[in-house]
Amino acid sequence: MTEPSQPMVKIYGTRGSAACYSLRDFLHRSDVPFEWIDLTSGEAAGAEAGVRGPHDPALPVCVFPDGVRLANATVRQITEKLGWFRDPSREEYDLAIYGAGPAGLSAAVYGASEGLNTILIERYAVGGQASCSPKIENYLGFPEGISGAELAERARQQACRFGAEILIQRAGVRGEIVAGKGIGHLEDGTKIVARASVCATGVDYRRLGLPNEDRLFGAGVYYGAGASEAMLCGRQEIYLVGGGNSAGQAALHFARYAAGVNMVVREDSLSVYMSEYLIDRIRAEPKVKVLLNTEVIALHGDRILQAITLRNNQTGREWTAETSWLFLCLGGVPQTQWAAEAGVVCDSAGYIVTGSDLLKNDRPPESWVLDRKPYAMETSLPGVFAAGDVRAGSIKRFASAVGEGAWTIASVHRFLADG
Ligand SMILES: Cc1cc2nc3c(=O)[nH]c(=O)nc-3n(C[C@H](O)[C@H](O)[C@H](O)COP(=O)(O)OP(=O)(O)OC[C@H]3O[C@@H](n4cnc5c(N)ncnc54)[C@H](O)[C@@H]3O)c2cc1C
Repeated sequence: MTEPSQPMVKIYGTRGSAACYSLRDFLHRSDVPFEWIDLTSGEAAGAEAGVRGPHDPALPVCVFPDGVRLANATVRQITEKLGWFRDPSREEYDLAIYGAGPAGLSAAVYGASEGLNTILIERYAVGGQASCSPKIENYLGFPEGISGAELAERARQQACRFGAEILIQRAGVRGEIVAGKGIGHLEDGTKIVARASVCATGVDYRRLGLPNEDRLFGAGVYYGAGASEAMLCGRQEIYLVGGGNSAGQAALHFARYAAGVNMVVREDSLSVYMSEYLIDRIRAEPKVKVLLNTEVIALHGDRILQAITLRNNQTGREWTAETSWLFLCLGGVPQTQWAAEAGVVCDSAGYIVTGSDLLKNDRPPESWVLDRKPYAMETSLPGVFAAGDVRAGSIKRFASAVGEGAWTIASVHRFLADG
């Protein structure tokens, strides 16, 4: 597969390899043009990269234009090669933001542009969920739509231009407040000290919860629209589970490449979760077939997904369909495992409660230590804010995440001005 621009890296590997998928997925989300060379059925293509056929133990191999060759390449190695893997440059920041989705990127742009020493920490790729959206059509100012990865890459450049530091492939695992400062512990042991922190960790993909699901991830089973895979499934039938907007968008995107797109929807109508404009387009797209009242109940395949079993919950009929492509767009679960440990108040579903939502009978929770009430977007820990999909009551849209990121910075300024 060749992306429209000049490739910055060539990836040699075989179809159905989860390791190859992780490289394609990361590069696609990061808007880095790459060329995918599938060695599954031959050896010749790999000779130029010193690869001895599809069983070469060095696969996946990545080759860069400057001749650098990475054997058994990993996402981490690629980020190092691109110069994106770095350590924090300061002992202490004004603002640390966790999660570089739309909310975190927006907070970084506004924070850094308004003079705060800002660091943004991302555990995977810049862009969050948005980076796997093939086309965002409802973001103001882009009447023709824009790919989420491109929008995120533009935001990354903008944040960097204002001086924000961005650490990627680094996850925050624990947070605490010591002497009035937020300390974020990253999984590699790095500590980030900041006067104010923003949690913008969004949501992670919900899973089907079926046996084999983890083993087949990246080898036929993909989460969140699998945008990097669309061009690879030409002339094949794909299955897409989910009835929300992200599933609808993905179905239309896949219809451009696949022989047929089967949307598996648990509800009895698309209108339960999907916007009307997408429903109209799906109805008008002959390649998309909608299977209502239906669930995937089993996954078959040893190394690669080969078939799925479906069940119509209305009729009880079960059947097996051959496919190597199952895309799961099932919504998300909040990424707030750390919050309970740190004493941050969350709602029953795990979303972080902020601002006036923390008040009961106009009083903050007992753990709240200040005389004032929490500022907008502030959590139950003073100086720790939450923005975007991770926040209880958020709208779960690109634009609202961007707006919340910006709004949070106004509250951060108030907090810092309090001294
Ligand atoms: C396929 C798809 C298509 C979509 N299309 C649209 C659309 O067309 N229009 C629209 O309005 N909305 C769309 N959405 C929804 C929109 O993308 C989200 O509402 C938005 O991305 C939320 O932004 P966020 O920054 O709050 O969270 P996220 O986008 O979820 O970003 C959170 C980030 O935090 C990172 N993170 C998580 N935990 C940690 C940690 N411990 N340490 C460091 N980093 C961490 C994650 O890796 C992620 O990058 C779509 C979503 C999907 C999945």
